[in-house]
Amino acid sequence: MIYIHVPLCRSFCTYCGFYSEIAADGCKKQYLEALKAEILSAKGKNPGPLNTLYFGGGTPSVLDPDDFRQILETLEEAGFTGSFEEWTVEVNPDDIVTKGPAYVKALMALGVNRFSIGIQSLDDGILRWMNRRHDASRGLDALRILRESGVRNLSADLIFGLASLQEKTWEDTVCRLLEAARPEHISAYQLSVEAGSALEKQVAEGLCAEASDEQCRAQYDLLCRLLRDAGYEHYEVSNFALPGFRARHNSGYWARIPYLGFGGGAHSFDGSVRSWNTEKLTGYSRQNEILTPEDSKIERIMLSLRTSDGADAAFLHECCNADTLGRLLSEGVLVESQGRIRIPEDRFFVSDEIIQELI
Ligand code: SF4
Repeated sequence: MIYIHVPLCRSFCTYCGFYSEIAADGCKKQYLEALKAEILSAKGKNPGPLNTLYFGGGTPSVLDPDDFRQILETLEEAGFTGSFEEWTVEVNPDDIVTKGPAYVKALMALGVNRFSIGIQSLDDGILRWMNRRHDASRGLDALRILRESGVRNLSADLIFGLASLQEKTWEDTVCRLLEAARPEHISAYQLSVEAGSALEKQVAEGLCAEASDEQCRAQYDLLCRLLRDAGYEHYEVSNFALPGFRARHNSGYWARIPYLGFGGGAHSFDGSVRSWNTEKLTGYSRQNEILTPEDSKIERIMLSLRTSDGADAAFLHECCNADTLGRLLSEGVLVESQGRIRIPEDRFFVSDEIIQELI
């Protein structure tokens, strides 16, 4: 699995704490040169199975088709040649509308077969507050362009957990998204106050209130119900898919399959060492963390219990406190069947607390 990080954005969103730089003239060229040199220097490293390629950001859609072609050729030159059964590119709605169907088709001609679009909301007031580049109508236009260009594996990101998000507005966003495109995959993230974000400053200055747990829970429950009724499988705490459309790349992360990440801020995992590039556009260096058996165990519990497939039952019985595990099972907080232990969907919202009890 290969991950390419594109730490370039045209503007910064209120809630964002990711590393990214403004995509000013010249930045893209510097970024591409550093990226290609890094890929070539990684020749011989373990990328795990070469079945998925993922461009995340930042905003990968600031890149042109020729930039993607150059990166692909560099991956091939370095020996990272796979069939890439799933090749995902994260796109911004505004870029899709501005660049149009020709852009989408050019990426598909290169082999991109999955587009992940940051819709976030279909309410203009909320999108303005988020400082997104698109409004609701442009978001819907982008979905239409992707579909009319022939995209058959589409993922849409949504954000909930805002104090100002009314139930009706949230329901309207989800329903309009389904009506407009019925994406094969939906990721819905609860807003959190990230260090270094504009939101952190607003909260500190009392300009923005955080949503209560009850509000977040109600919005999450509403989302789960609407997507269940629409035929989606809730296969991970934040992820929903129509049958056959689980995200293969992200599923690989949750199964702790090795992958290689390139670009400033990108992370990698070789099965026992997690590493990450420092957050710079060029001249970044790689930092390593060797996982102890205890670290690996905790990580495996945390990642697997967030999925609807859950964790291997024998593994949990072997490494968790027997009293705690027995109590959680008898209370129905965890369920065991067919050799797996999982958190039932109606407790996904409190999965972090449940996992904390176990580790
Ligand atoms: S949320 Fe995405 S588009 Fe917005 S600033 Fe962060 S990385 Fe850039």
